[in-house]
Amino acid sequence: MSEECIFCKIIAGEIPADKLYEDDDVLAFWDISPQAPVHFLVIPKKHISRPVDIVEADEQIAGKLLRIGADLAKEQGVEDSYRVIFNNGAKSGQVVFHVHMHVLGGKEKPWPM
Ligand code: AMP
Ligand code: ZN
Repeated sequence: MSEECIFCKIIAGEIPADKLYEDDDVLAFWDISPQAPVHFLVIPKKHISRPVDIVEADEQIAGKLLRIGADLAKEQGVEDSYRVIFNNGAKSGQVVFHVHMHVLGGKEKPWPM
């Protein structure tokens, strides 16, 4: 846990979030500022600042983010059209420095790339 990290605070229950899924390794919750009809985040409970900081020991959890994202996308009915985004570094638009996978779905005409 990182004292300053807003997502660690959500994991610790110090800040509320609208949760979709939780287990010992990961947490999924609705994005507070959705950019698509379906927009949630899947995060590891372990504090990892950026995707580039993922190491071999994190392989399993990194894969689990994708698998849980897929399960939840199916649950939300967007399995035929969703997008997964990891921002890495402030220049890429990363604002929260705790690895998170955006799952965006439900747009009629998706994004240019
Ligand atoms: P990024 O720009 O990739 O760092 O994305 C951070 C995301 O976290 C943004 O889409 C925010 O809307 C979202 N976010 C920030 N604070 C919260 C919060 N307390 N609950 C849910 N989502 C949040
Ligand atoms: Zn954190």
